[in-house]
Amino acid sequence: MLSYRHSFHAGNHADVLKHTVQSLIIESLKEKDKPFLYLDTHSGAGRYQLSGEHAEKTGEYLEGIARIWQRDDIPAELEAYLSAVKHFNRGEQLRYYPGSPLIARQLLRYFDKIHLTELHPTDFPLLRNEFAKDERAKVMKADGYQQLKSQLPPLSRRGFVLIDPPYEMKTDYQDVVKGIQEGYKRFATGVYALWYPVVLRQQIKRMTRDLQDTGIRRILQIELAVRPDSDQRGMTASGMIVINPPWKLEQQMRDVLPWLHKVLVPEGTGHAKVEWIVPE
Ligand code: SAM
Repeated sequence: MLSYRHSFHAGNHADVLKHTVQSLIIESLKEKDKPFLYLDTHSGAGRYQLSGEHAEKTGEYLEGIARIWQRDDIPAELEAYLSAVKHFNRGEQLRYYPGSPLIARQLLRYFDKIHLTELHPTDFPLLRNEFAKDERAKVMKADGYQQLKSQLPPLSRRGFVLIDPPYEMKTDYQDVVKGIQEGYKRFATGVYALWYPVVLRQQIKRMTRDLQDTGIRRILQIELAVRPDSDQRGMTASGMIVINPPWKLEQQMRDVLPWLHKVLVPEGTGHAKVEWIVPE
């Protein structure tokens, strides 16, 4: 069952948080002059047309990227991310939103590697076309969780794994933890970033408990809520759980999250937090 299409949600507040964290991790890894692998287990289509039927139907990007991309008080932590967004929007109008693979494509160096997997029959060919001429990239129609076994450890022994499933199936909350365990067994020094939605808080509490039970250390949680937790339908918050975060990430997110919260949620509801699920 693959009914989820990211085109309905591209550029929303959750993408802003996810891609801010993604870009800061990439920029930190680039501080060393050594190549690394960027592995995106659930890649999506790569590029989203914001004037398209899907994005217009939900209008989610209007309360996300549209609120920040042209402000003149952008914090330094957002510069790399927004430079990627602006690359795809040369004029005044916000027409396209780059998903995680295209943000990586913009930020990575010529000697880094990009491995992308996507299963959706419509989104996979779109993604493959985006990378047709990119020699750094390998684009596969394959199960993302499987990649955590087959692609790790990377030859370069440096890597960043983004795990961004749609959580269409309740089992995703357990599968991500199993997948991380598999990856970590093979590659304990990698940086892993897991995106999650808060729909029912209990699901996230259970997932974080399961992560704690793996025995993995250095797990940082970053969360941005636009509304208080609720048992009604719909996502009230989203977060990123980062294993082995680059040392600057915690402070960078502590600095930028209040600004993001203020600009994305002018009504002031919800919360922003950065905390260790498991410290050193
Ligand atoms: N990471 C993308 C971004 O930030 O632009 C968005 C990804 S979207 C949230 C999740 C994607 O995972 C969907 O495009 C869906 O088709 C794909 N997907 C679902 N199950 C998958 C699986 N087992 N392996 C790989 N991709 C999968």
